[in-house]
Amino acid sequence: MRLAPRLDQVKPSPTLMVTVKVAALRREGIEVIDFGAGEPDFDTPEHIKDAAIAALKQGKTKYTPVGGTADVKEAIIAKLQRDNSLEYALPEVTTGCGGKHILFNAFHALVGPGDEVLIPAPYWVSYSDIVVLAGGTPKLLPTTEDTGFKITAAQLHAALGPHSKVLLLNSPSNPTGAAYTEDELSRIADVIESSELFTISDDVYEKFLYDAPRCAHLLALKPGLRDRLLVANSVSKTYAMTGWRLGYAAGPQEVIKAMETIQSQSTSNPNSIAQAAAIEALTGDQEPVGVMAGEFAKRRNYVVDRLRAIPGISCTLPEGAFYVFPRVAGCFGPKWQGKPIASAMDFSLYLLEEAKVALVAGEGFGSAEHVRISYATSMQNLEQGLNQIEAALQRLSGA
Ligand code: PMP
Ligand code: GLU
Repeated sequence: MRLAPRLDQVKPSPTLMVTVKVAALRREGIEVIDFGAGEPDFDTPEHIKDAAIAALKQGKTKYTPVGGTADVKEAIIAKLQRDNSLEYALPEVTTGCGGKHILFNAFHALVGPGDEVLIPAPYWVSYSDIVVLAGGTPKLLPTTEDTGFKITAAQLHAALGPHSKVLLLNSPSNPTGAAYTEDELSRIADVIESSELFTISDDVYEKFLYDAPRCAHLLALKPGLRDRLLVANSVSKTYAMTGWRLGYAAGPQEVIKAMETIQSQSTSNPNSIAQAAAIEALTGDQEPVGVMAGEFAKRRNYVVDRLRAIPGISCTLPEGAFYVFPRVAGCFGPKWQGKPIASAMDFSLYLLEEAKVALVAGEGFGSAEHVRISYATSMQNLEQGLNQIEAALQRLSGA
């Protein structure tokens, strides 16, 4: 059968593929330590589950307005004011079936043929594919360890062209954990202001920022961008609610309306029970978020120290999120199964087979020299997985 031509341009999500592969290996009885999963290992806090159960019992089981109930929108407005000092009204807020879906709606509302979306690289695997699906063109802005995996204002300025339409910012970043300082963001905001760029700020990891000082939201730093900025967020990571599928956005009414039009012809409203749970998540007790962040901080330090002790691996200290993105090119060269290990993909396949540890190769994020390790797993798993990685790499180098 001949499928639609758009399928020639998109690939399945490499991060989700690792999760599928781990599940398949485990079904075969093979024990694998999973450093691939991009989701908190914690359970959804009890008070949020209770709110969902209450909503079910109250019969909140019907369609809701496409963009979510007024109550969930009010909760989002309260959250944006409390955490980000941003003021929004009901028609400027919407919800979707996860942050990914929000981005899908946003790119479909904003870009078409000929429009470029500027994406700092390394980047989360889905940005470029969603842009392509929407008919736009991703334009990558490369970064390295030298700039802390962050773009500079000068780099953004130099990248601007006649077709530049949208800038995607994700701080803290998946996969690098890099987070912009207020000073860096202000300088980037100056460039955005002097251009015609529309900015999408993907804030899904905002609560997982470790020793770096808290940083004002880009829009709070530059309120003049209000008509050209979309805040994209989700309850997935902050509240350990990845399976609930509830994301949200705030931005100019015209864009929000366009996103809801697209959603009205695809998924309709996000799950009604997840909306009720999200109200409790966003406005109820926030302590569990701090507890998770504290735990992630300890794990980050442990993982970075362990990786830095392995010959051939170098690793920056990520400021946030729950990933490290070590450079592993120093381990390339030795042969495995008759062929030299020559890429992050080869390296991660080797570790899956020989160390029984799953991680995500950097290629999907835009680098064949790095891998992504998620530390959203227990300390015990981290210790054991890193022991296994260390031993497998020693065997490889013949040490
Ligand atoms: N943005 C980034 C950077 C992510 O890592 C994720 C994780 N999947 C998302 C958005 C979307 O998450 P979700 O769809 O679970 O809200
Ligand atoms: N965002 C997570 C990750 O990067 C979850 C999987 C996905 O949606 O890509 O692994």
